[in-house]
Amino acid sequence: MTEKHKIETKLIHAGEPKEKYGGAVNMPIFQSSTFEDTGQGDYHEIKYIRLNNTPNHIVLHEKLAALENAEDALVSASGMAAISASLLTLLKSGDHFLAHKSLYGGTNTFITNDLRDLGIECDFIDASDSQGWEEKLRPETKLIYVETITNPLLNVLDLNAVVSFAKKHHILSLIDNTFATPINYRPIEHGFDLSLHSATKYLNGHTDIVAGAVIGSKDLITKIKYKLNHLGGSLNPNACFLMHRGMKTLALRMERQNDNSREIAKFLEIHPKIRKVNHPGLESNSSHIRASTLLDGFGGMVSFEVDGDVQEADKFISNLTLFINAPSLGGVESLVTRPALTSHSGMSKEDREASGIKNELIRMSIGIEAVEDLIADIYNALETK
Ligand SMILES: *Cc1c(COP(=O)(O)O)cnc(C)c1O
Repeated sequence: MTEKHKIETKLIHAGEPKEKYGGAVNMPIFQSSTFEDTGQGDYHEIKYIRLNNTPNHIVLHEKLAALENAEDALVSASGMAAISASLLTLLKSGDHFLAHKSLYGGTNTFITNDLRDLGIECDFIDASDSQGWEEKLRPETKLIYVETITNPLLNVLDLNAVVSFAKKHHILSLIDNTFATPINYRPIEHGFDLSLHSATKYLNGHTDIVAGAVIGSKDLITKIKYKLNHLGGSLNPNACFLMHRGMKTLALRMERQNDNSREIAKFLEIHPKIRKVNHPGLESNSSHIRASTLLDGFGGMVSFEVDGDVQEADKFISNLTLFINAPSLGGVESLVTRPALTSHSGMSKEDREASGIKNELIRMSIGIEAVEDLIADIYNALETK
């Protein structure tokens, strides 16, 4: 395995043990909480599941680091465990940071409730436009936090501006890369300090575990790992095994999901019963040019408004037969949800409307099914009274 290999090859081979355990072609599950003492020096080197260092952790750490061309990586019990452990490592009472104004709901609440309770302050900015960021800087500003593609409107933020701003002002840059995946965007290559993932979504891809990951320099990842070791948010070996298995097909899945979602977005765009479609792959999309320059693919998500009110939107959703009405995303099966009821129900209607998220907005996570069947299902659901 070398850096020269393509990402498809790294997904299969990177991080795999050089000497196969018992000759096993597939990495076995090490279902043991503790391991024999071999004279480790440091507390963090004791082999114990909570200390994130079993063989099942190590293979994932090395594979994830290779995928995003970074020095190191760490997996965690959930995406929120990766996000909270990273922020708690880098920020202390009295510190300040900047974050994009519409983040994943759990992240937003963690910032506005939990971090604030600890005396850590955040100013929200519009990361799609660098105007005004500098005015928000303070001597105690430590980092800037963004997401690659926003949810549910699917805008691509001004990621190059975020990196140069962070470098110019000597602060760290963190990005939640869940929606893009390492197939479509590799933040470290573009100068970000840390890339975060809810591995629950595309990395695992099979809707059967909750997991998280953080990728970056050896120095930062070691600090975050020590924090996670104490917070106790380690991923159990069984979930490590499932995540490892799921990740091997990431490239195949993302290719199909990139294609399917773009086909569906194009179909929706010309359908007379559809008012507005959000997908960075559409030429009509406001972040299309930026998305085309920054990303290797536009991702598997699409959101749109059907002509009519909330009742029309709900009727459309219940008319679908292949799409499952469920929150979350990134699995092999297509899902549909109304963000006002699920992912964005924590926001007030006014705040949602102000950010362009109408109550009738529908969001789809496109799976790997045949796109003809998905389009036929959408077509029929729009026609059925
Ligand atoms: C789901 C999600 C999270 C949280 O991940 P969990 O695995 O549910 O803890 C964070 N960020 C984004 C963008 C997500 O979609």
